[in-house]
Amino acid sequence: MSSALSAVKASLPSRFGSLFRENLGTFDVPLPVEYNTSMHSRRTRKSMKIARFEWDGATRYGVLDGDALFSVTGDLFGELAVGERVCGLSEARLLAPVSPSKVVAVGLNYAAHAKEAHVDQPVPEEPVIFIKPATAVVGPFATVKYPASSRRVDHEGELGIVIRKLASGVSEAAAREYVLGYTCGNDVTARDLQRRDGQWTRAKSFDTFCPLGPYIVTDVDASDLRLECRVNGQVRQRSTTGNMVHGIEKLVSFISGVMTLLPGDVILTGTPEGIGSVRIGDVMEVEIEGIGALQNPVGE
Ligand code: MG
Repeated sequence: MSSALSAVKASLPSRFGSLFRENLGTFDVPLPVEYNTSMHSRRTRKSMKIARFEWDGATRYGVLDGDALFSVTGDLFGELAVGERVCGLSEARLLAPVSPSKVVAVGLNYAAHAKEAHVDQPVPEEPVIFIKPATAVVGPFATVKYPASSRRVDHEGELGIVIRKLASGVSEAAAREYVLGYTCGNDVTARDLQRRDGQWTRAKSFDTFCPLGPYIVTDVDASDLRLECRVNGQVRQRSTTGNMVHGIEKLVSFISGVMTLLPGDVILTGTPEGIGSVRIGDVMEVEIEGIGALQNPVGE
């Protein structure tokens, strides 16, 4: 650094540090202490279960501790702190744990599922991605509506990644910093329409076709968690997220290289083998180790 720049740096009040860094990224100006501290505490703090729920006529975020929900103070996607007890878990109606601008889903990301879905085709080298609209998202226990236009609707149990901060062109090395936590997802699919259309949009996008929940679990290593999908209590899918072809960092990096991910956006990471159909009256359940179980009935 030149002596002139050193003089400029030395003359800066410390509160200008982060502003200066953003505008002139190559300058070696220390960040304000509180910024460094918050980044450190995010990395090292204990895992939390974040819920979104209705109680007493209001929709709110909360943190689950035992069988009670506590208020969230501060910024859910920034520096989150736990406030006072709001209500018991049994008194609240759980909603999808986030309200995403979009859900980006990944197809054929487990080799054994790619085999059952596309016999004789190799697993794609790059992630195959598609969008499920925000209007398809529902929460735990919400009824998934069987469309009149379909004769075959399938469950697809999947790990969901919840994005913490605006992500654009993120590297794999930095990807974890952009993840708030993980949840369970069900990429419900009208399989007959998917095959008929070629394009997947109609088959994947019906209202209620994207159950998410029950919680966002923060600060966990989700790279090798047991995942199970059951229908009426019977196991249909059983695998581990360790079997994903493209892992969490790769997916966040790849997708953020295509489109900007916003806080609360969700990536559904693909389904393992064992997909199968459901009927009206069935109950689907996606359970992921350390995260919870997402249950949804199928109805008209
Ligand atoms: Mg899927």
